[in-house]
Amino acid sequence: MTTNILFLSTPKRWAEYEPPLTHALAATGLDFRLAEELPAAEVDYIVYAPGGATDHDFTQFPRLKAVLSLWAGIETVIENPTLTAPLARMVDHGLTQGMVEWVTGHVLRHHLGMDAHILGQNGIWEPIAPPLARDRRVTILGLGTLGTACGRALASLGFPVSGWSRNPKTVEGITCLSGPDGLKQALSTADILVLLLPDTPATRDLLNAQTIAQLPQGSVVLNPGRGTLIEDAALLAALDSGQIAHATLDAFRIEPLPADDPYWAHPKVTVTPHIASETRATTASEVIAENVRRGEAGEPLLHLVDRALGY
Ligand code: NDP
Repeated sequence: MTTNILFLSTPKRWAEYEPPLTHALAATGLDFRLAEELPAAEVDYIVYAPGGATDHDFTQFPRLKAVLSLWAGIETVIENPTLTAPLARMVDHGLTQGMVEWVTGHVLRHHLGMDAHILGQNGIWEPIAPPLARDRRVTILGLGTLGTACGRALASLGFPVSGWSRNPKTVEGITCLSGPDGLKQALSTADILVLLLPDTPATRDLLNAQTIAQLPQGSVVLNPGRGTLIEDAALLAALDSGQIAHATLDAFRIEPLPADDPYWAHPKVTVTPHIASETRATTASEVIAENVRRGEAGEPLLHLVDRALGY
């Protein structure tokens, strides 16, 4: 019997994904049909990456076996009450590598004080050497696929890295912390703080006036996670007071970030337009195809989302 896969996204993304996804699905040996439009009654799997509205009515797909997200963050679909089929998020090694490069690059920018040299070509010879990585502590909130990969990369450069997660864990080279006391400790040693948590009810506003006060004075915040992790007014106040020296933000509550948002004009803020990392079509297609194969073979799907936890 033919397995029908609906690609629910934008025409641009369809053009990008159709060749690699067709190739990866063909390699599974399944008899499949992959299309942008299919009769709802025949859809078995949905590859999910909507470009606009996210309030889809999944009850129109009576045969639906799973929704396979192209994104790592699934907050826009997880609370959809019409979705009862399993939901898998994206774990793609291309996406992970991209995040490692973005985080490492921005950590090194601040660690080495690159701005002073890039912006300060003023004829003044001021030879102040930056400290070594071993003297700059980095904390990563969120020690999942992305946080762990970033932590490992930074530890391999010599940074003392702490990571915080919901469950206790052990990762070689990283001081792993969990729970409320773990969070306090993680914050207190964050010369550079990296937010790589998902957007869930438990993580919203995690960086607020109270937690910001637990950071060392003059720390740097990098947020490639989600905009909802930060209470924006508290961050702006901490930047103004000097409690936080700089914030590099890639994710925002409203995207695109409105042109009049105070983050754009703030001298201690760098805005990047949600480009920290992207799902890569070739590698992600292999993950999607493997999950369709598993679904058809009755095997457990990879990267299933826990609805109760929200990630
Ligand atoms: P994972 O699900 O693999 O990891 C999430 C981590 O957060 C886990 O360590 C988890 O703990 C921890 N966590 C979740 N809830 C809590 C909590 N309440 N308290 C403490 N820790 C918690 O996700 P990924 O690493 O793949 O991705 C992380 C986020 O990065 C995504 O959700 C997405 O929002 C963002 N992202 C941003 C991109 C960008 O371009 N800006 C690109 C891709 C992703 P535990 O290990 O115990 O479960």
